[in-house]
Amino acid sequence: MNHPRGNLIALAGNPNCGKTTLFNAITGAHQHVGNYPGITVEKKEGYCQANGRHIQLVDLPGTYSLTAYSLEELVARNFLIQDRPCAVINILDASNLERNLYLTIQLLELGVPVLLALNMVDMAAARGLAINCEELGRRLGLPVIPTVARTGKGKETLLEAAAKLGQEDAVWEPLHISYGPDIDPVLDTMEAQIKAAAFLTDSHPARWSALKYLEADEEVIRKGKEKNLALSSKLEQLAEQVTQHLRKTLDSYPEAIIADHRYGFIAALLKEGVVKQSHKADRLYLSDQIDRVLTNRLLGPIFMMLIIYATYTFTFTYSKAPVAWLGAGFSALGRLADSLLSPGPLKSLIVSGVIDGVGGVLGFVPLILFMFFAVAFLEDTGYLARIAYMLDRVFRTFGLHGSSVMAYIISGGIAGGCAVPGVLATRTLRSPRERIATLITAPFMNCGAKLPVFAMLIGAFFAAKQAQVMFLLTLLSWTAALLIAKLIRSTILRGPSTPFLLELPPYRLPTFKGLFIHTWERTWQYIRKAGTIILAISIVFWALMSFPGLSETDKKIYDEKRASVLAYAPQEFRESLSHYKESPGAANPASDPYRIRLQEVDYEEAQAALKNSVAGRIGSGLTVITAANGLDWRTNVALLSGIAAKEVIISTMGTAYSLGQSRRGETIPLSSRLAADASWSPLKAFALIVFIMLYAPCLATITCIIRESTWKWGLFSLVFNTMIAFILSALVYRGGLLLGLG
Ligand code: GDP
Ligand code: MG
Repeated sequence: MNHPRGNLIALAGNPNCGKTTLFNAITGAHQHVGNYPGITVEKKEGYCQANGRHIQLVDLPGTYSLTAYSLEELVARNFLIQDRPCAVINILDASNLERNLYLTIQLLELGVPVLLALNMVDMAAARGLAINCEELGRRLGLPVIPTVARTGKGKETLLEAAAKLGQEDAVWEPLHISYGPDIDPVLDTMEAQIKAAAFLTDSHPARWSALKYLEADEEVIRKGKEKNLALSSKLEQLAEQVTQHLRKTLDSYPEAIIADHRYGFIAALLKEGVVKQSHKADRLYLSDQIDRVLTNRLLGPIFMMLIIYATYTFTFTYSKAPVAWLGAGFSALGRLADSLLSPGPLKSLIVSGVIDGVGGVLGFVPLILFMFFAVAFLEDTGYLARIAYMLDRVFRTFGLHGSSVMAYIISGGIAGGCAVPGVLATRTLRSPRERIATLITAPFMNCGAKLPVFAMLIGAFFAAKQAQVMFLLTLLSWTAALLIAKLIRSTILRGPSTPFLLELPPYRLPTFKGLFIHTWERTWQYIRKAGTIILAISIVFWALMSFPGLSETDKKIYDEKRASVLAYAPQEFRESLSHYKESPGAANPASDPYRIRLQEVDYEEAQAALKNSVAGRIGSGLTVITAANGLDWRTNVALLSGIAAKEVIISTMGTAYSLGQSRRGETIPLSSRLAADASWSPLKAFALIVFIMLYAPCLATITCIIRESTWKWGLFSLVFNTMIAFILSALVYRGGLLLGLG
């Protein structure tokens, strides 16, 4: 085997065992958060000194197991195998020893040098649990150190023990557990064959590889096939035989038997003299009492609705003011740039490309901050696991997971959310397939930016039934999201669902410090990552809508029009009219008609420039296709610009329809303009609503999808969602025409 890295120590443990708290207590400010190469699992590294040595500490993702089911488990496992830390500190929640030791057993089977940090001994003591660390250590043959991560108690002793363990060059013998009469003989045969062929033995112990073949571990089998196809097939065959045999005799399968024996081993380990329980008033008991109400069949869903609703209100209510401040700040910045720079492409680039684009992304930050805080709260208290538990059955029918519901709701499941935090909320999903299916479908929800567009169209065509139509749209987006998730999960993302962990962690009161750290870390990642990409893309969009601009001859036409308006204006107004832009509200009834006429020429010019731009030409070109759902070039350009941010749809449509102010100086509402337009009908408006509901997510969302998965899925959401939107809205439009609703 490769030699372990002399100063690298890893922290492993179940989620919520206090890993991060301990990591922070040990490394203090000397840490660095990044990602594991190529994936989104967070990697935290830090540095410290122990026994006069410089030590590099890595906080592995929290896992219950070391299978290949979830990304976290795979990452943790591969880190141990490939980076070979000289010691692994396995942190256990002392008040939940039995469950936590399950991971320990697997670490020991993998043969890595382990020591145990028995954390939360304060909590265990409060529950009347006393754990004999020496005895446990003696039975397992490794150091066991009691700690309280919250106060930092025991961390020095732990570090010293870890450093000492890392220095010992002793050969590590992987733990050998008996798996009973059915499995043991086969395991021995496999082990012998693996050893003889030196198959994968440079990275894992022979018996471990054999176990993985029995557990049908995709990752190990894939590696095995590459290494030695003949032996790998033989091992698979052996595993298959055991599987068949177990099915016949015990109506069970290897993984279940293996888990049973591991728990049996743990039970034996803890028997007599390791754990002493003095009194029974404990947190688990309290948790059970709470769960009797909160996960009750009838009351559970009601409480869940209320809690979700509260989360939602909390996020969107309290973030409203800071979102508005940021918005105001960016428009002030825009105005400042507007007044400082001379007209031309550079000014347009800075104002419409850079400031609007970056402002669009940073504008989400308060929203995300509050959402992460709320989710961290639900997660840390243990309630999120209950939501997932209650909804799992329904969501599983559609190939999703109980935890998907949070992402949907935050994205706008109750109308008016935002897909950016929604996409980030999928982090609570452990299985990659279910996670991607949620990522792709969450943007179908009606986010706060789509609502004004819907409101405008509803106002124009369904004014009498506003509430009903809005409710219908909410139902429609859920139906579409679930059905399309089902479609994705039974085609490109086909595969079994993750076995759901039915274990519900006990309720716990989170600390503010913990909540703030979690919230801030996630938010900062968003700012840093989304900020850079989005800047580049918004510049591209700006260019598409600004270039090539109007030709000199075309510009001249508008200049002449303006000149002729000025020529008709009386001398006394002329001076003020050439500055009409700076005093838009100048109340001078005599000069107003001329001022408005000048503005109309401006709007006409903007419309012509937009039509002539690359985006405009694409929009016109697309009419060949969008004739199917009745959309003209104006709507196409607006939809194109809506990919940058959905709220832009209305303003682009305004430009495309050359909307300005009426002769009396009032702004003409787009909705009355459309309502009066003979080429529009309620059917067409509805088809457009369906399209907007489902088509490509906005850039900020796509960026987040890319960050949370790969750029391929980001691209997929752009293309696939637009196709779905097109097909469905064309069906609505054509179907409606056939039924004579047009
Ligand atoms: P992780 O998921 O393993 O990283 O767990 P965290 O470090 O986020 O801790 C989960 C929760 O347990 C937080 O609310 C911590 O404040 C709390 N916690 C961590 N260590 C201790 C401890 O030793 N005693 C007590 N009472 N609480 C702890
Ligand atoms: Mg953590």
